[in-house]
Amino acid sequence: MANECNIRVICRFRPLNDSEEKSASKIVVKFPPDTEDSVVIAGKVFVFDRVFRTDTTQEMVYGATAKEIVEDVLSGYNGTIFAYGQTSSGKTHTMEGVLGDEKYQGIIPRIVQDIFNHIYKMDSSLEFQIKISYFEIYMDKIRDLLDVSKTNLSVHEDKNRVPFVKGATERFVTTPEEVFECIEDGKSNRHIAVTNMNEHSSRSHSVFLINVKQENQETEKKLSGKLYLVDLAGSEKVSKTGAEGAVLEEAKNINKSLSALANVISALADAKPYVPYRDSKLTRILQESLGGNARTTIIICCSPASYNEPETKSTLLFGQRAKTVKNVVCVNEELTAEEWKRRYEKEKDKVARLKGQIAKAELELERWRKGESVGPEEQIKLNLEANDLESLASSSSLSAISSLPLSSSSTQLACTNNLKTEQKQSSSTASSEWLKEKEVLYSQLDEKDDEINNQSQMIEKYSIQLQEQEELINQLRKENDDLQGRISTLEIDNESQKEEVKEVLKALEELAMNFDQKQQEAEYKGKENENLSNELEKRLTNLKSIEEELETLKEVASSQRRRILDMMVLLLKDLMEIGSIIGTDLNSTQAVQLFNIENVEEDFTMTRLFVSKLKGEIKSLVSKCSHLDEHKTDSEKLFEQKSNEIEELKLSLVQNEARLKSQQEFSREIDAKKRKLEEELDVTREELAKVKALSGTHDEQIIHKALNAQLETHVDQLKKQLKELRNENNDIQENYLKLQDEYQNFKIAYDKLQNDFEKLKKEDFDRITKFNELQTQQDLREQAKQDLKGLEETVAKELQSLHNLRKLFVQDLQARLKKTNKNLINSNVPEQEEDDIGTINTGSTIAQKQKIAFLENNLEQLTKVHKQLVRDNADLRCELPKLEKRLKATMERVKSLEVALKEAKEGAMKDRKRYQNEVERIKEAVRQRSIIKKGNIPNIIKPIRAGQQPSIITNSTNLSSNSGISKNLRDE
Ligand code: ADP
Ligand code: MG
Repeated sequence: MANECNIRVICRFRPLNDSEEKSASKIVVKFPPDTEDSVVIAGKVFVFDRVFRTDTTQEMVYGATAKEIVEDVLSGYNGTIFAYGQTSSGKTHTMEGVLGDEKYQGIIPRIVQDIFNHIYKMDSSLEFQIKISYFEIYMDKIRDLLDVSKTNLSVHEDKNRVPFVKGATERFVTTPEEVFECIEDGKSNRHIAVTNMNEHSSRSHSVFLINVKQENQETEKKLSGKLYLVDLAGSEKVSKTGAEGAVLEEAKNINKSLSALANVISALADAKPYVPYRDSKLTRILQESLGGNARTTIIICCSPASYNEPETKSTLLFGQRAKTVKNVVCVNEELTAEEWKRRYEKEKDKVARLKGQIAKAELELERWRKGESVGPEEQIKLNLEANDLESLASSSSLSAISSLPLSSSSTQLACTNNLKTEQKQSSSTASSEWLKEKEVLYSQLDEKDDEINNQSQMIEKYSIQLQEQEELINQLRKENDDLQGRISTLEIDNESQKEEVKEVLKALEELAMNFDQKQQEAEYKGKENENLSNELEKRLTNLKSIEEELETLKEVASSQRRRILDMMVLLLKDLMEIGSIIGTDLNSTQAVQLFNIENVEEDFTMTRLFVSKLKGEIKSLVSKCSHLDEHKTDSEKLFEQKSNEIEELKLSLVQNEARLKSQQEFSREIDAKKRKLEEELDVTREELAKVKALSGTHDEQIIHKALNAQLETHVDQLKKQLKELRNENNDIQENYLKLQDEYQNFKIAYDKLQNDFEKLKKEDFDRITKFNELQTQQDLREQAKQDLKGLEETVAKELQSLHNLRKLFVQDLQARLKKTNKNLINSNVPEQEEDDIGTINTGSTIAQKQKIAFLENNLEQLTKVHKQLVRDNADLRCELPKLEKRLKATMERVKSLEVALKEAKEGAMKDRKRYQNEVERIKEAVRQRSIIKKGNIPNIIKPIRAGQQPSIITNSTNLSSNSGISKNLRDE
């Protein structure tokens, strides 16, 4: 039943990858042309069960390595395929490939598909249970990839001393799709757990386990097969990766498990009595696959590049060593009690038969020993088979089995290497004791493993909690940061606003200062104004008086001039008379000359006298004139004097006012004194009257009278003085009132002037603003003008081009016309010769005329269209500014809308972020809860029956969520 077989080693070379091609790496491996099982590297030949070249397809690899294992597993054998090789040598490509891709999918998906296809083809009496486990070994810790909460699983041995991963999730599957789902789940969990997937996958071993159990419903025969599909970590040396620190430790640890694998293989290859399976979890899990009960295939993946030559060599050496390892495989069969009983009976019969034969043989032997000879017909004929001998030898163990209660459930047929060695060792009791001790120690070790597992799971839980707390802290920190950011922005705002307020206050202060200054200035100016107006008044009054004086002087001057004029007139008259007289005299003198010359001389002396008189008079007149001039200058001086006097008077007026006041006070004092005096007078009078009454003497009466008279005169004088003072006072008061009135008038005038000044200021300001507006409008107009100019230019260009086109068109037409005319002329010559052709020609000319007319029409239409276009253009030009305005307005609107949109977007983004955070938090919480729940859910067995369609299977599996339901189905 059990047979020995070597581990199959298959070598696969991948093509050069990009980086190797870039670095122009050479291919250093050679494949001998007529073989498929050897490869030569550096002159050394390596022979394997199969060597795949760089161009091998996934399908070919599958067909040659894994296809037969499917049948083995379904026949109750264990199977293992693992890929060994340096990182990026194609292990994952070979084992997994591209999932869901017909061409590039690897061994695992193909095997899964094939298993189901086989089952569908098998006998319908068979019922299958397929379980999937998926875990990875990283840093010698087993992490369940189907349940992330299981992070450090331990390896135990079952009752047949076969190691298995205790507590690993087993998912029951009924279709290939469910298996692929498991793979996807496992991969996504692997992604969640680590940050850098590539690095992680090159440092961890991933193990995919398919457990197939089948039961024949008719014979109740049960078979089971386990299939391990392992993608090992990269086998490269640590030095090559340049790892340091924690990474170096990690790399060393991984290498440890790989070196444990190498050690196990070399121990098996050298057939050493002790195989160090327990050195790592990887070797423990693969214990059955390496030198145990499993058909094992190792795919060694290599790079053909010179850069990787050392690694390739070491990989090939590993493969060669592994090739020598022998496994002993047998079917994993579970026998029923009936079957055991039947076999027991059979063996018992056999033993009885053999025992009878032995007794007969012993009798014969005794006869021989006694010296008797036994005839050939009496001799016993032993036709023992190898089986018989074996069963005879194991009869003791059989009796042991028979002592077991048959009702105890089926036990697996022990056929492993371990059992064999045990059987060998059982010969000596010492070794059996040692074995017992070993077992005890192993069980203790397992317990410790369990403890470690529990502790590490606790640690994992705590670390998850810690992570949650950290996340919470981070979230809170983020919120805190946000809040602080907000606070800082608010503070900044606050400070800027404070500064603004300060600035405003400063401005206000400045304004107040300015206002005060201006007020002071205004007051000062007002005072100045008052002074000036006072001066003005004085000047005006001076001027008036001077003008009056001037007028009087003018009058004087004019009267004097008149007098002078009169004088002159008189003089002239006199002169005229003199002249006439002289004339007459002349005439007379002429006559006299004729008659009397002596009279003339007399007259002449007379005239001389007269002239001298005139001279004297003129002189006196001139002197008078100069006198008048002098008088004038005098009067001017006087005028000045008067003005000075006026000023003095004004001063005196002020003084007078002061005096008036003092006098008023003085008068009041005088009044008071007077009253006193009057009172005193009254008193004295009374006293006098008393004295009168007392004395009554004459002398005294005379004295009294004199005294009275004196008193009365004194009183009269005082009264006069008082009257004068009162008059003066009244005058002064009148003047004061007048001055006050004038002052008020002046004030009103000043107010008016100020109002006017302010109005003017306002008007000025309005004008400036209007001016600014006008300037901006001007600028706008200029811009618009420039735009219009550009437009006009473009339109003009277009018009020009249209015009040119039109010209060209006309020229073309003319040329064509000429051509047609020429043709006509040419055709006219044969027309004379042949009449028939002539008629045709006339027809053609008509056609051409029609054409020309048509073209002319077209031209007209075109010109019309052109005109229309020009008009439209003008209209458009008119509308252009309006449209531009509208455009501007719309642009502004668009800008404002964009700003609003931005703000809205930002708000939305913020909301979204918050929402996402919330969703993630909830998701995390839900996941945690589901993880906790999963731990409590029992595994649901999904048995499937062979020979059924997949669709029906899925239906039945949906129904058969537990074993009870599956039984019902079976009954149906
Ligand atoms: P490993 O798992 O050994 O680290 P991978 O399987 O991830 O290496 O392979 C590394 C890269 O090389 C992947 O991109 C893969 O597609 C590519 N590759 C590996 N083997 C082959 C092959 N036989 N043909 C084509 N590409 C391959
Ligand atoms: Mg890989």
